[in-house]
Order: sequence, then structure tokens, then C-alpha cells
Amino acid sequence: MIPYWGNSLKIIKGIIASPGLATGEVYVYEKIDYLTRIKHDCYTLDPRHDIDILKRAYEKVIKDLDQLSKSLSKKEVDLIEAQKLMLEALVNEAKELISSERLCSAQAVKKIYEKYDDLLSKSGSELINLRRADLRALALRVISYIMGKKTKGLETKTNAIIVSEEISPFDFMELRRNNINGIVTIRGGPTSHVAILARTYGVPYLIINDPFILGFNNKKCVLDCLNGYMIIDPNEEYIRKYSTMQRKYAKLMKEFKKYSKEPAKTKDGVNVKVECNIGMIEDLRLIDEYGCDGIGLFRIEFMYINREYPPSEDDLIESFTKITNIVRNKEIVIRAPDLGADKPVKYLDFGNENNPQLGMRGIRLLLKYKEEILYPFIKSLILTNKNGNVKLLLPMITSIDEIMEVVKLIEQVVQEIGNSAKNIHIPDLGIMIETPSSIYMLDQIIEKTPIKFISIGTNDLTQYILAIDRTNPRLSHMYNELHPAVIRALRQVMDIVHSAPRNIDVKVCGEVAGQTRAIPILLSLGIRELSVAPTFVGKVKYYISKIDLEKIKRSILNKILKSSSAEEIESYIRNIYREINLEYIP
Ligand code: PEP
Ligand code: MG
Repeated sequence: MIPYWGNSLKIIKGIIASPGLATGEVYVYEKIDYLTRIKHDCYTLDPRHDIDILKRAYEKVIKDLDQLSKSLSKKEVDLIEAQKLMLEALVNEAKELISSERLCSAQAVKKIYEKYDDLLSKSGSELINLRRADLRALALRVISYIMGKKTKGLETKTNAIIVSEEISPFDFMELRRNNINGIVTIRGGPTSHVAILARTYGVPYLIINDPFILGFNNKKCVLDCLNGYMIIDPNEEYIRKYSTMQRKYAKLMKEFKKYSKEPAKTKDGVNVKVECNIGMIEDLRLIDEYGCDGIGLFRIEFMYINREYPPSEDDLIESFTKITNIVRNKEIVIRAPDLGADKPVKYLDFGNENNPQLGMRGIRLLLKYKEEILYPFIKSLILTNKNGNVKLLLPMITSIDEIMEVVKLIEQVVQEIGNSAKNIHIPDLGIMIETPSSIYMLDQIIEKTPIKFISIGTNDLTQYILAIDRTNPRLSHMYNELHPAVIRALRQVMDIVHSAPRNIDVKVCGEVAGQTRAIPILLSLGIRELSVAPTFVGKVKYYISKIDLEKIKRSILNKILKSSSAEEIESYIRNIYREINLEYIP
């Protein structure tokens, strides 16, 4: 807990979007929010004229994006390309609206923006929320050009902590020229493009969902994006303490980068594969840069959301071909679309569900819509697995029958395409371990199905073991992947795998795999493959390399398995890092 140092000192908790530490003076940047200011519909007598205005605004934004690209590295240029596609879709639909309803250009853009924003906001899923902030930034930029405002560059002091309602990728790049120290916004999420840019450039970024932070202009501030705090008016002693921490942190980041380039090995020589979780094709460009040993989880849902119909076989083949062309020599685990619950789509019927997290989702939905979803998915995956490095992962498995139905379908697909395609590589089949039943049935699953690997989804497993909806913010303080019940469940999985009559690969792909506090536990349990966010690969490899696994296993595994709370378990881990004199970066 951070101590209280002075009368005007304020400590505000936020969500970390980009880790790091910063000190500086707050600069409050207020933007004109055209999206809420435009309140009334306005109609045009000359739709062609408004379409022209929109076209010109669109071209200006494209120019801005191109300009932005010039100062970016290759991997961020790919992000900008994705934004261009999003912008094109937004503007094309707005043009249609101008023609069909004679709406003025700004209103048309606002309407289309609202339609998509509404759709995305309902999902409640971080994955689907991924591009919400970007969409908003693009819509705002287009409208401000339509309104004739040249969005002028940001003038700010150097080394400031920028506080704003929101910040777009354009703003970020302009701000960076002034060597900003950190960012705090009210809106946004850790997976928006600004957050990705902030992580790429090592700018600490905190999200605090409360407008009162706009009242801190010119205040001294410490931004602690390692623990998630904004500290206003710290005294000198406090600033000094954080400056020391900052220097240590900067040194560590360099170390993480160094370690990311090498395979991970513990101090006593145990090899660990550190792969990454990916959600968009353009993110694949990041994997070499971050030192990922493969794609441990490709969440393919981006192809299914936000559309009127499921993707066709041609759509899927095109995307899978792109993926396999980019990643040729490393494993790619593609998960069958895990739709339903927090990832609904409008073209499938979910019925009226009182408990969507316990409802029609994952494999249940895939088997209900076998023809429409699962068949084309599997067929496209097999047809594009030219390099033989693709694996198929099934979500939300609870029974042997579910797996065997998929196995039959694979056989059917192989038979159908057998004569027309040479060099077919059938992807290895694996299942997510994310329900309690998949653990209780695991020995039988290994015996009676041909699965080759399992991937432990601790996000859902924690939800189902603790009976805590992972999307319910009122219960988030109770949701903890280090709950002893979850750790015992992991132990049970590893016991079953170790005593199985054949080899089964095990990886952990839930968020816990990227958490420093979990690394010694997962390795002690015998897990040798971790799949984490690309930005965490270096950090995870670094901590792995500092661990003497045998020693840790001997000293804490039993204690952990007999612990009565997550806090107790975490304190053992903190001790381990303290004993070996390691700075603890969560
Ligand atoms: C999990 O449940 O841990 C997992 C990796 O899947 P998702 O977060 O996509 O449900
Ligand atoms: Mg899951």
C-alpha cells in the first residue's frame, strides 16, 4: 500500500494501458467532442455536394494517416493500414446514408459511428472492444475536417503528463514530438491502438474512468503504471523515491528486450517456450520484434464479429493464407471461433439466456451451427495448412462427445477434399481446458480421443471454478487466478497429463501466463509452454531465466498447494523474488 505523504496528495487508482513510471507536470488537453456536440439531424438539398465534402475530409484523414506512418516503424504502419480500412468502411456507409436519407455529411458520419459503437459496446468483451477507441478517433477526425476545423497540433510543455478525456493515435504521435512523460485518459482501453502505440514507445499510460482528473492542470504528478496509480502533489521525498524506481525500471526494460531475443531457459537449464496470443492478422507483424516463439493462441473471432453473415469459405481461406504466409516456421494455434457469452454475433440465434456465460457458447455453438460455421472453418484450415505448422484448438470443451463430433467432421472434410488437394496436413487437434468438467474428464479424454495438446484457459477456468462472472466489475476484487482452488485444479491437470499413457503437450494461454507472480508456480507445476501478450514476452523470458526451478519447487510448491488464499500464495512468490534480489514488475 502506498503511504500518505502530505495534505494535498491524492492517489487515484486506474487501469494500466502501458506499464512504466513517470513524473512531471499535468497538462490537461481538452478536445472538442463533435460526436456529442452534434445533437440534431440536418438534411441536405444536394447530397452530391455533401458526399464531395465527405470525400475531401476522408482524403485529408488519409493524408494524416500517411503522414503518421512516416514517423512509424514497419509494425505500426500495419496498424495504420488497419485504420485506413476501418475509415474506408465508415465513410462508404456514411456516403450511402447521405444518398438514401439526404443527411448532411457530419450527421451521416456520426450516425454510422454510433451504429458501430453501440454494437461494440454491447458485447462487454475486451476483444470486441479492441477497436472502439480507434473508430471514435477516426470519426472525430473526419467530422472536424467536415466542420472546417484544421485540427491543430498539440501544444504542450515537454516532459508533461498529458491528461485528457481521450487521445487518438494522431494526438499521440504529435504529443510524442514534445517528449511527453506519460498519459492519463478517461476513455479508452488497454487494447486500443493508442495503448499499443504507448507500449511500443514505452510511454506509461493509465486509464481513469472519472472526469475529475481534468481538474489537475499544472499539478505535480507521479504516474505509477506498474501498480496503477496517479499520484497528485507528491512531496519531494516521494518524487525522489519514484525517480530512483524509474531509473531501475528503465534499466530493467533494456534487460527484458535483450532476453526477448533468446529462447527462455531457467537458471538450472529447463527450456520454456514463450509464445503469444494474437487477435488480429496485422498483430502477426509484431511477433518477431517481441521475440515470440510461436502463436500459442490465435483468437479468430475478429473474422466473425461485426458482420451480417458468417465469413464464407473464401473469406476464411484468404485470411488463413495470409496468416500462414506470414508465420511459416513457428507453430500457429488457431482456436475455432469462441462465439457466444461476451462475444455474441447477430446472425446466430442465442435464444434468451439468463446466464450467457453458462449458455450457448464455444463448442456448443459450433456444433449447433456445424454446417454454417464449423464445417467451412475446418475445411479452410486444412486447405491452407501448407506448411504443416497450424494446430486446431477447440474452446469450452466439457465432454468426449463434443471432441468426437469434431473428429468425425475432420474425417469427413479430409475425405471430401482428399482427391482434389495434394499435401494435406491435418492440423493437430487440441482442446482448451477452461471448464471444471474438462479437468475431471481429462484422463478419459486422453484415452478416448486423438487430441495432441491441451491449452489451459485460466481466464474462463477461474470464472467457472470460482463461480464469478469474469465480466462482472462488482466481483472483480474476488476474481483471482491464484486462488488456491485454481492452482489445485492446475495441479490436477498436470498430474493427469504426467500419468497419461501418451504424450500430451500442455500450454497456458490465459492472462495469468504473462503475470510475473504466476511464473514460478506454473513452471513448478511442470508447465513448459506459456502464451502471453506479445509485449510481455521479454519480461516473461527474463523472469524465467532468473529462476532456479528445482530449488523453488522444493521450497514452495507444497506450501502453495496447502495455502488458504491467493494473498498467501502471492506472498510466497514475492519472497522468492526478494530472496534472489529481483525487482518485481507485475
Ligand atoms: C481463457 O479463457 O483463458 C482464454 C484464453 O480464452 P478467452 O479469454 O478468449 O475466453
Ligand atoms: Mg476462454
